[in-house]
Amino acid sequence: MREPLSQESPSSQAPIGAQAQEITRLAPSPTGSLHLGNAFSFVINWALARKQGWKTVLRIEDLDESRVHEGMTAQAIETLQWLGLDWDQDPVIQTDRFEHYSDAMNVLADKSLVYPCDLSRREIEEALSAPHDNSDQHPLHAPIRPERFPTKFADTGIGWRFAARPQTVQFTDSNLGAWAFDANEIGGDFIVWTQRNAPSYQLAVVVDDHDAGVTQVVRGRDLIDSAARQIMLYEALGYRPTPTYTHLPLVLGPDGRRLAKRDQDTHIASYSQKSGPERVLGLIAQWTGITPDRVPMSISEFLEGFDPDTLPTEDLVFTNEDAQWLR
Ligand code: GLU
Repeated sequence: MREPLSQESPSSQAPIGAQAQEITRLAPSPTGSLHLGNAFSFVINWALARKQGWKTVLRIEDLDESRVHEGMTAQAIETLQWLGLDWDQDPVIQTDRFEHYSDAMNVLADKSLVYPCDLSRREIEEALSAPHDNSDQHPLHAPIRPERFPTKFADTGIGWRFAARPQTVQFTDSNLGAWAFDANEIGGDFIVWTQRNAPSYQLAVVVDDHDAGVTQVVRGRDLIDSAARQIMLYEALGYRPTPTYTHLPLVLGPDGRRLAKRDQDTHIASYSQKSGPERVLGLIAQWTGITPDRVPMSISEFLEGFDPDTLPTEDLVFTNEDAQWLR
């Protein structure tokens, strides 16, 4: 029997005692040099924490072995330090925490909420496109779910999926307002354990945030639908309360595409080799509304001018003039 999840709607505004310590995290993926968009999110996350007395945990999200190469973790840490950011304890390294992720898989297996699936993407698409009841009440992935779910997790070299019950996940983002995601519309059953024998991003983030007592998640808005998946996992694992989410706008290139690690010329490392962080911080300050124009500034000047109540909500554009100015 699948265990019904709580009917209560998850609350991102769970009451936190007046004395409770708020905790946030900076969670870089060291899969390439951090770019201006990453720096924008990390600087705002850090400033929110410093202005409001939150504790800050640095977590290195290095689970994707195919993309994390020698020296990249050290480089990510150096970049954050070059910007002037700091944190409150030794970094948490995801690759040191495998047993915690497999423990969580066992909790989910015990509740019959995860199942192994070795179908290829194409086989899954075919199974899901065959005629079946696709009402809102019907799990999107029902046609590929096994008749019986295993009650123990074992890594067998194939991916495992979380059985997402049909539901609408609602939360209020402290920057971008109220959201409601239909579990089927955001893809239904999602991967929690990969065939590379590693937890998926969704599972690892939830287990890590819970274990570190994270109450404040601040990150780019490209992850806003992941918040819905993560809230489903919080519920399924019996973790409460869910954190408060603050999603930030993205930084787009002049072509309207969001900056990515492939855009070499926006890498922070390319600026840090030449000069101090004042211009990068000045550009982020302008994006954040601290100054109307780009003005070089130190991290302490940034913090002084930073107002946690007026975060930008619209995507920003890194223009050719900005690129000239940073050069
Ligand atoms: N490691 C992710 C990134 O660099 C952030 C994940 C998160 O904040 O949940 O985009």
